[in-house]
Amino acid sequence: MRAVDGTGLPPIEPFRIKVVERLPQPTPEERERALERAGYNLFNLTSDEIRIDLLTDSGTSAMSDHQWAALMVGDESYAGSRNFAEFESTIQAITGFPHLMPTHQGRAAENLLFSTLCKPGDFVPNNMHFDTTQAHVRNNGARPVNVAIDEAYDLDSPHPFKGNVDLPALTALLDGEGSGRVPLVMVTITNNTGGGQPVSLENLRAVSEQAHARRIPLYLDMCRWAENAYFIRQREPGMADRSIADIGRAIFALADGATMSAKKDGLVNIGGFVATRDPELFERLKEALILYEGFPTYGGLARRDLGAIAVGLREAMELDYLEHRIEQVRYLGGLLAARGVPFLKPPGGHGIYLDVRRFLPHLTEEDHAGQALAVELYREGGVRSVEVGAIMFDGGVTERHAPLDFVRLAIPRRVYTSAHLAYVAEVVARVHARREGVRGLVMTHRPPRLPHFTARFAPAGAKVPPTPAERR
Ligand SMILES: *Cc1c(COP(=O)(O)O)cnc(C)c1O
Repeated sequence: MRAVDGTGLPPIEPFRIKVVERLPQPTPEERERALERAGYNLFNLTSDEIRIDLLTDSGTSAMSDHQWAALMVGDESYAGSRNFAEFESTIQAITGFPHLMPTHQGRAAENLLFSTLCKPGDFVPNNMHFDTTQAHVRNNGARPVNVAIDEAYDLDSPHPFKGNVDLPALTALLDGEGSGRVPLVMVTITNNTGGGQPVSLENLRAVSEQAHARRIPLYLDMCRWAENAYFIRQREPGMADRSIADIGRAIFALADGATMSAKKDGLVNIGGFVATRDPELFERLKEALILYEGFPTYGGLARRDLGAIAVGLREAMELDYLEHRIEQVRYLGGLLAARGVPFLKPPGGHGIYLDVRRFLPHLTEEDHAGQALAVELYREGGVRSVEVGAIMFDGGVTERHAPLDFVRLAIPRRVYTSAHLAYVAEVVARVHARREGVRGLVMTHRPPRLPHFTARFAPAGAKVPPTPAERR
């Protein structure tokens, strides 16, 4: 590992710890009881039942001393708070988008954008829709279409930008079935559903040209834009000496607007925004914002939250932070690779995505293999992960490939140290060593939308895993 300062000294967490929170230590018996009570859905666990929580990197960041200080000097004016002014000018400076409004989180921004732009029968292409993005597109009667490159579905391909859009597939949609029925093109940076994989500047440029040639606006789902920019700096020719801010300006210059969950690269626990260059659209978004979220200078948040977001957005662009962030994920990947655990390579920006099909080849989608694996990691060491596969994406999205099937170990920002990650690697490796004994689950309750949040499961009766001979 190379440190940014070029000294060759070992890399360390680029922060020291000022406040600590005790980690719960549930016993094996307590974990078993918790699983039963939770209906084998880890979303139903309480935090005191969890040792290491890798459910999500969303809203789970540790804030810095400067962010906490920003909360303390919050100006809680209903309208015209100075925190809004700072929030607005920070995002304008980063993105160049002139019009923006806060929302309480990312999906609220998606609701405003899609309900304003989409009508029934429309198509929305995206490299890969995130679960809430897909749900909001569908909620407005439009069809989400995933157009990531083939390499995104090849878990071993070393492609440096597996989040890229498949340009011929996008053309085919825009000029074929979707002709005149695509209100916006969206690109998710990084591609969360596809493993936190980055999109190259070159690819974004081509997507922007394709969309604009047809007078279709390009919007970015920019939750993890700083992580994406760091990968561009590392991997795209000619980018190594450019600052993250500079790469960001190049990215955003190609787009007409964005939605963001600040719970990711905003380094806060709640918040988001929607931004656009289109003043007329901005007025329509504002009407919807006032109806659903609040006045445009707070958008469903406490004003102090806007101050913490402004500071967090700037901190997320610092090179020592980003290097630590990306290297931390690679470090966990390295430990798992050394133990022969199958996962998506190369590791993305915010977590390790375990390859469920290769991890548990004796289980199928009907056995809810991904959920079964997530349950087993909790059982083994109190580690909470999340299924990112058939249950989370429950159909409805147009795909040219068999859908991906992952268990995601998402790493919260600035929360866990290398020792915590070594513990996680050991837990995963132990489950891998006894993988043949892992049994499937049956779903006992299937909710109609976003099923992963509230579904319930039970162990699959007396089902015995097939012997190696039967599998052949
Ligand atoms: C988290 C996320 C969202 C939704 O944001 P919330 O703040 O959870 O509502 C949208 N898109 C992507 C890519 C995300 O990771």
